[in-house]
Amino acid sequence: MKRLLNRNVVLCVMVLGCSLRAEVISLAADADYFTDNGLDNAVASIQYPSAEQFNGKTYIAYQGPHEDPYVCVYDHAKQVWQGPVKAGVSWLGLTPDPTDHKEIDNHGKPALFVDSKGYVHVVFGGHGGLPMLGENLYGTPGSGRQIHAVTKNPEDISSWEVLDNIDPFGTYDQILKMANGDIYLFYRHGSHRSDWVYQKSTDDGRTFAPPVSVIKHKPQHNDPNTHDAWYAWFCEGKGDTILAQYIYHPCLIENHNKQRVNVYYMKLNCRDGSCENAAGTSLTLPVTKEAADRLTLVHNSGTTKVNHGICRVDETGAPHMFFRSSEGSVRYTRWLGNGWQAPTPVTVPESKGQDGDMIVESPKVVWLILKGSRAGGGTEVCWWKTTDGGLSWNRESTVIASSDKGYGLSALVRNPFVVGEADNPLARGQFIVEEHDYASPSVYRKLSFWGGAGFVVRPEAEAQVVHRHIEAEKELKGKVPEGTPYQRRRARAAANVGED
Ligand code: ZN
Repeated sequence: MKRLLNRNVVLCVMVLGCSLRAEVISLAADADYFTDNGLDNAVASIQYPSAEQFNGKTYIAYQGPHEDPYVCVYDHAKQVWQGPVKAGVSWLGLTPDPTDHKEIDNHGKPALFVDSKGYVHVVFGGHGGLPMLGENLYGTPGSGRQIHAVTKNPEDISSWEVLDNIDPFGTYDQILKMANGDIYLFYRHGSHRSDWVYQKSTDDGRTFAPPVSVIKHKPQHNDPNTHDAWYAWFCEGKGDTILAQYIYHPCLIENHNKQRVNVYYMKLNCRDGSCENAAGTSLTLPVTKEAADRLTLVHNSGTTKVNHGICRVDETGAPHMFFRSSEGSVRYTRWLGNGWQAPTPVTVPESKGQDGDMIVESPKVVWLILKGSRAGGGTEVCWWKTTDGGLSWNRESTVIASSDKGYGLSALVRNPFVVGEADNPLARGQFIVEEHDYASPSVYRKLSFWGGAGFVVRPEAEAQVVHRHIEAEKELKGKVPEGTPYQRRRARAAANVGED
């Protein structure tokens, strides 16, 4: 009965004129989510990509039980799902899972890529790396361990193995794939007081060169209590280049706080490893706070807190970006050739867009997918569009909205699977949505795959998996180890040595 009901609902929607794709109206459709075992903040844009399409299949990675990386795959031709499959063991997880989300670390969410032969890779589990992992040459240790796992067979997520070929001191993993097949793994090499680095692979991730530092951490010369620290976001540019947007964190050793200010931009040239600012002035790597202020500043926020957003490039190679602001909505700006456009708030006062991703259709036509809070309560995920280069914005469509649920978004799916809508930029606008039901104390989240025109459905019985995990966890009731979460992570990590 339920299937029939859903089918009728879908048919009604069709009559109303919505353009749902064939796979969305699959008669087997029951649920608009593909799993319910996402753990807390299961996807986010700063660990990315969460998903990539290869050979007609979209592979999706997310943080699941025990903060371990889980992978699902959707076959677009057959309209079938597989997974979730656990891809590795995170050193950040606790056993059993916490019931209080404040004990969940959330920094080691997986980033995913598919190599040229179809092997699926995830990098996950780091929040700076435990001190037991050795000396951190680019920063200070933290917790967890950055781990790289790969499928044992191409296009087959059923079995995984660890490739011990990257530094363990990473967090906020971001994986870039260049047109020539080179892979760049960017991350912060430790906890707050650490450099941002990349490791490059020219052989499908089988080996990586040693880290190259691009943004430098250090104590300020005149105030050693203030340590220069950063949040950064990298993506592919035009013509074998990489773009970086970054935010300054004055990391106070005494009286530490979460202040983040200013927005910066630079471009790496992959051919020779050189770096330049938006105007083309060359920069010495790693960039220091002093050089960043002098040469790469996009926006001086003063004492207003800002946070990282997304940077993408247009057909001319000019960067476009948005960043989050404590003043409300995200701010958008673009490079005009001789300076940065004054940042403009994207969303309207009653809808505070806070995070998401961006499609640059042309220098003046830009789409943002943003999650945001609505005045009067509730949250929404909407497409916003400008046709005048970001001076004004309109809400084009609402993906999902609720008065009693919160949403999280991944960055856009890499190389999305698009059928017959190549001229529609939104057909390429695919992402993962995490749903937080405020009425439930559960730390587990439903995850949905927005396929460009609708959520890709899955038989509900297949998508409901977390109840089995919760049952298994009950066996552990009363056996919670003593100690702080950090101490318990260390103990779990020590027990996992050699098992991953
Ligand atoms: Zn700090």
